[in-house]
Amino acid sequence: MLLPARMTRAEEEHWVAEMLHRLQRSETRRRSPARDSDAALLARCAELSARHLAGKAVPASVRWVPPMRTRWASCTPSDGTIRVSERLREVPSWVLDYVLVHELTHLLVPGHGPDFWKLVRHYPRTDRAVGYLEGLSAAAGLGIAQDDPL
Ligand SMILES: [Zn+2]
Repeated sequence: MLLPARMTRAEEEHWVAEMLHRLQRSETRRRSPARDSDAALLARCAELSARHLAGKAVPASVRWVPPMRTRWASCTPSDGTIRVSERLREVPSWVLDYVLVHELTHLLVPGHGPDFWKLVRHYPRTDRAVGYLEGLSAAAGLGIAQDDPL
């Protein structure tokens, strides 16, 4: 976001907060249907895996969990479980989709090396979603990362 150079710090903070508020209001209408239940979340994962990962990532379970302090989501490849922070219930559907593709990819590739990102980038809005989540974390002063490096 570009801000006029002469804004004071207080004006700038006010403006950023206002923009975030407006953004959230307009984006809320486009929230993902997957926010409604764990079953809907799992169904969305099946669609995303089929579309972007050749159907190779098959989670055993995908669940909403209470907000985690440092992570948006987590994946345990050994038992195929994915957990998604309830902080993401209100983000736009394309951002949640990215988080799901990221965690689904961990079922295939542990860690965040080049092989991992090559697969994740099959999801076309990856870079935009990463930027959105970084902005959301920074604006809320949360310091949240996608997940733990596996
Ligand atoms: Zn990760």
